[in-house]
Amino acid sequence: MSDEIDTDAVPSTVLSGIRATGRLHFGNFMGAVRHFVEYQKPGIRSMYFIADLHTLTTLRDPEELRSNVLEITKDYLAAGLDPDQSVIYAQSSVPEIMELSLLLSMLQPVGQLQAIPTFKDKVRKQPNDVNLGLLSYPVLMAADILGPRATLVPVGEDQRPNVELARNLAERFNNRFGKLFTLPEMLLEMVKVPGLDGEKMGKSEADNAINLDAPIEDIRKRYLRLGITDPERIRASDPGDPFNRCRAVYPLHEMITLGEHDSREIATACQNATIGCVECKNRLVESIAVLIEPFQERRRELASQDALVREVLHEGGKKARQIITETTAIVRDKMGIVIY
Ligand code: AMP
Repeated sequence: MSDEIDTDAVPSTVLSGIRATGRLHFGNFMGAVRHFVEYQKPGIRSMYFIADLHTLTTLRDPEELRSNVLEITKDYLAAGLDPDQSVIYAQSSVPEIMELSLLLSMLQPVGQLQAIPTFKDKVRKQPNDVNLGLLSYPVLMAADILGPRATLVPVGEDQRPNVELARNLAERFNNRFGKLFTLPEMLLEMVKVPGLDGEKMGKSEADNAINLDAPIEDIRKRYLRLGITDPERIRASDPGDPFNRCRAVYPLHEMITLGEHDSREIATACQNATIGCVECKNRLVESIAVLIEPFQERRRELASQDALVREVLHEGGKKARQIITETTAIVRDKMGIVIY
């Protein structure tokens, strides 16, 4: 049956997801969600999900998980995702993703999973709490991606090894069982947004994130108090080194402050000591505000709309399931599994 599948007939599909570990932060917005909205256009099938199964690797509170799924869906809608244009769903609403993950796991060497930096990092940080789900996380992610046969996966830089693993799995499957998958592409520019401490901004990392729903004045206070700048710039008259020594503030200006011209003007002023770190931080907060204020306004309107959100997830789940079930059936068949 499956040999006749015309893979070129599958529409160009953009797919991405976010774990339900808490509310979204500015790193999620810059690395992922703003791209989700860009790809929501005619001719592209866009699919965005809440990765609740992935969340189980670390979050153990069922009530919190249930609530996070609804809250993140509201974040998606507030960011501009439209259920009439995109398929918005919870990962667990499509049980076939789990089946596909199991089938793909038969093609996945364990050593490669153990070598993935995020896994090694978790083992280092919590050696007594490493579950099998953490190890097989990238295989489940490959099933997320390959289930709808995604052609583009907009994610932040930290996810590159996982998408590469999905590409390898797709290739291995195609070579062994006949071409089914197009290799999913990544964005040309993948970013890693620094948190207040200069490390990758993250939900679970040490309090270094800027939450998307934080009042702008709170964000300002946090940057002024905690944002790491050039540690060798002791006095305002000392010339700074924005490119090499400033880890939390200038790198973000480069990403968001009105393109290269304006951010480079700030860099030169830092190097000449004509701008101090406080003013530099204030200007950064203004740039952040421009990006997130429209989101915050829409998010307030959605705060109490749980019924609407459940309906969006219900409808999105049905659509996603239809698409992914088709691929899973082909994979099952190609691998020799028959449902009697
Ligand atoms: P997570 O919150 O780990 O589920 O990540 C969801 C999405 O946000 C993924 O595409 C990540 O790559 C992206 N992301 C998370 N943190 C950052 C960051 N600090 N900079 C850029 N992208 C990020």
